[in-house]
Amino acid sequence: MHRFALAGNPNSGKTTLFNGLTGSTAHVGNWPGVTVDKREGVYKKLSEPIAIVDLPGIYSLSPYTPEEVIARNYILDEKPDCVINIIDATNLERNLYLTTQILEIDVPIVLALNMMDAVEKRGDYIDEKELEKRLGIPVVKISALKGVGLDKLMERAHEACEKGRKGKTVIEDLALQHLIGDIKIALEGQGVHNPTFHAVKLAELDELEVLMHKDTVNMVEAFKETHKDEIFGDDFEALVADARYKYITKYFSPTLKRKNKEKFIVTPSDKADKILTHKIWGIPIFLVVLFAIFHLTFSENFLFLGGFLSEGWVSLEGTAFEGVFGSGGINSPGVILMGLMEVLTGTIADAVGVWLSTSPEWVSGLICDGVLGGIFAILGFLPQILVLFLFFSILEDSGYMARIAFILDRALRKFGLSGRAFLPMIMGFGCSVPAMINTRTLADEKEKLATVRVIPFFSCGAKLPILTAVSGAIVAYFGVGNVDLITYGMYLIGMITALFAVVLMRETTLKGDTPPFIMELPSYHAPQIRNLVMLLWDKAKHFIEKAFTIILASTIIIWVISHFNFSWKYLPDELMHESILGGIGQLIQPLFTPIGFGVQLNGMGWVFAVAAITGLIAKENVVSTLGTLAACLLGSVVNIESDGGISAVSIMIQNTGITLPALLAFIAFNMTTIPCFAAVAAAKGEMANKKTFNWTLVFWIATSYIVASAIYFIGTAWWAMFIYIAVAILTVIVIRYINAKRVSKEK
Ligand code: GDP
Ligand code: MG
Repeated sequence: MHRFALAGNPNSGKTTLFNGLTGSTAHVGNWPGVTVDKREGVYKKLSEPIAIVDLPGIYSLSPYTPEEVIARNYILDEKPDCVINIIDATNLERNLYLTTQILEIDVPIVLALNMMDAVEKRGDYIDEKELEKRLGIPVVKISALKGVGLDKLMERAHEACEKGRKGKTVIEDLALQHLIGDIKIALEGQGVHNPTFHAVKLAELDELEVLMHKDTVNMVEAFKETHKDEIFGDDFEALVADARYKYITKYFSPTLKRKNKEKFIVTPSDKADKILTHKIWGIPIFLVVLFAIFHLTFSENFLFLGGFLSEGWVSLEGTAFEGVFGSGGINSPGVILMGLMEVLTGTIADAVGVWLSTSPEWVSGLICDGVLGGIFAILGFLPQILVLFLFFSILEDSGYMARIAFILDRALRKFGLSGRAFLPMIMGFGCSVPAMINTRTLADEKEKLATVRVIPFFSCGAKLPILTAVSGAIVAYFGVGNVDLITYGMYLIGMITALFAVVLMRETTLKGDTPPFIMELPSYHAPQIRNLVMLLWDKAKHFIEKAFTIILASTIIIWVISHFNFSWKYLPDELMHESILGGIGQLIQPLFTPIGFGVQLNGMGWVFAVAAITGLIAKENVVSTLGTLAACLLGSVVNIESDGGISAVSIMIQNTGITLPALLAFIAFNMTTIPCFAAVAAAKGEMANKKTFNWTLVFWIATSYIVASAIYFIGTAWWAMFIYIAVAILTVIVIRYINAKRVSKEK
């Protein structure tokens, strides 16, 4: 099967094109570095199927970043039958820089001028026939987003791959040409493949090439010695880059006719950036935007209109829809959807309960409490998870998230954290696993390690049920606060913990330089419905699959070991504390005393400890475990599963006497402790050795204890705050002192 590789700058639309060609639903992100690994799919509309490989986004073929090395080695070593060089045509000249480098490889190339819709909207025109003549490779105008020109692109690529192609360079500088020509002849003598490409890279004294062709390097040195006068300076890399830009400006730029002749037009995007990336207001605006999202997703008092409207504004009293739209205030869209889900799951649970009313106790117990109690407690959250992710995806797709990376880079660079590290962190809001894999874009090993460690603190979708169920119960049981405020606050605590932890590591065990962060800010654009729908569909599918496999299995196991004792005798609900689970729970319970849900809780207190432990399998288990156990305690499933675990947690509060600060500590503990199995495995995969990994586990446990105990103690006695502040200040002073001493010693 023929193989075509997609290569281009970050954000040029490679993944969009890849999805369009292969029907895949890979993640499209409006920021650089989303695709780290190469990804494969198949295009089926030609006479034969074609394998398509989506390479990571790159600006050049120099080995500066891991992406560049991956893409370069792929093209050179794996020899695709054709390279589809996709470029952002709204940024023609800059994108062609990479093209001039790929041209040097002996491989058929087709140039895809992407984003033609945007070019045309501006009123600009590109003469693709002329550009094709000047480049010597086929040029096709496309819009990956709108799906225009894709089949034509593939036809031209197919033709090109039949013909084959020899590399050629655009460098016209005489002295350089001379040098490159000589090296090329020498390399050809050695039977090296891709002599033109390697010759140019050797002339640049590219790190990788120098290692590969040790003998030929001498030739470059000798050349420099003899031609000192002709060449200005000895930074050959800069000379070559300059030669490329000169060629682009001279031959390729004229194929672009701009409607607006002035070079710098202030676009609406620039105007928006004046405000959104403002030095002082940038971060506060981000925090407000984030709060707005939580409000829209979780609030039961939409826009705080409750105060203005009289009770029972929407009178659905007595109907199944009571509570869906809210009373007192109006529910936010997220809560309305959740309410609808409750109606659905509640109806199913009722029906099943009636159906099983005559069967043996353990059968109805296992099915109603074990299976339905657990699964419905989780499914109840699906609507809100999707609403939250819809908003996150809109932020990302519109280009705003890339700005956040930029703003945070500016603020935190001096603390050893670059904007590049924020991109994977923000991805962590979705799921830690891809986020950790994405840290491969970080060039500095130490920065990468620090980032992998804190990614779980960016609370993922699976942790959302813990947040909403517990905060919902806090509001319902203690009658304080708003769900949106509590969840928002906990998300912030997670983020702040992450930032502190990174800074601390970068000051102590993981010291190192912070590589510069160069990123093009993509212009804002309206999010694509197709994109959003696909992302949400993926998310929903993943969540439902997980609910019916790993979580279903876990809830059944939890139910069984909470209803049998060590001699496998069935125990009724009231004797749960004598069960296997009860035994284990009471054994580990003391460990959780410093964070509020240990020995200070009465007989059933171990349920929180057990729930946190089951979260190590999948974080959804935390709430489903509480759901299953609460269903047993209450002796009926009917009222529990239908409100996404809120009443399950309420029942637990009633039965254990857990305090409000301890509940907040419980959330914080689950957010910052060892993540689920899948994330732990992903983290291990990104670490060089076992020792680093073990320290990472220690780090997660320590962090969760520190954060959760701080919340518990400060919440219980506010003056404990001063102790924590004092300890924090002392830590900073000690670290500063040690670092200062070390620096003076080195001198
Ligand atoms: P990659 O980094 O090269 O994989 O780029 P992506 O496929 O993730 O796309 C980057 C951004 O460009 C996304 O926001 C896309 O929606 C947008 N985009 C991709 N193709 C087009 C296009 O043809 N026209 C326009 N206007 N935007 C596009
Ligand atoms: Mg991509």
